[in-house]
Amino acid sequence: MTPASTPPRVTLVGAGPGDPELLTIKAVKAIRRATVLLVDDLVGDGVLRYARRSARIVYVGKRGGCASTPQAFIHKLMIAEVRRGERVVRLKGGDPFVFGRGGEECDALRDAGIQADVISGLTAGIAGPAAVGIPVTDRRHTAGVAFVTGHAQDRACGEGGPDWQALARSRLTLVIYMGVARCRDIQRSLLDAGMDPDTPAAIISQACTPLQRPARCTLGGLADTLRREALPSPALLVIGDVVRAMSHEAVLARVAQCSSAA
Ligand code: SAH
Repeated sequence: MTPASTPPRVTLVGAGPGDPELLTIKAVKAIRRATVLLVDDLVGDGVLRYARRSARIVYVGKRGGCASTPQAFIHKLMIAEVRRGERVVRLKGGDPFVFGRGGEECDALRDAGIQADVISGLTAGIAGPAAVGIPVTDRRHTAGVAFVTGHAQDRACGEGGPDWQALARSRLTLVIYMGVARCRDIQRSLLDAGMDPDTPAAIISQACTPLQRPARCTLGGLADTLRREALPSPALLVIGDVVRAMSHEAVLARVAQCSSAA
């Protein structure tokens, strides 16, 4: 329990993409200090080995399409636990501020008079491609990268979802989170917008975990590849010339390196 004089605070911690060795030192310290951890379902099991034995671990997964804990309930729980004097860590996959509702949670905490501290994590959209040899930017191929949601109902991006026309014209590397369920629609939107069907593409399933499975294809074959390979979620779609760097050797080497395989 924290002394009554300590201002109430919750720490939002990015747990990275799965491999516990990709946690930051700050994240490990915060996890070790916590007496209550509210944990998303994308957080790798190995990450929780740093929690103290007496810590209470509450799973509040929000995976799309599955039963999930309503966001308002998570806010209430964080606030209630910190008011009881617990040291609360809100543990999220990847980075809390990249498609992680971290902004909403910070707002809810601040509205309740609670300080929100944020510890950045390595987002899957950078670490996942890197784990199979893909640099998300490479000045020989692209001027930048766009991280976008493929989830049509993601209220964070307005009614219609991302502007696929504009993204197709941008010539940026596209890294698409939550794109599995709508993969075929996304593919069609980008092709309708004039993108070359031969644009290199990759699907990276369960990146940075012992179950990592990547597939290389083209934009024109994206949805068929996803179906044929039956790649499970979570998975990222990566579209752009940078995918040419993906190599079979890199895939094998990085899987062998993944420390959570131990
Ligand atoms: N805050 C997280 C993203 C949460 S949104 C981050 O910064 O990484 C959830 C989406 O992230 C999933 O649908 C998937 O597209 C992607 N994702 C998260 N972890 C992943 C992993 N280990 N491998 C592949 N994709 C992952």
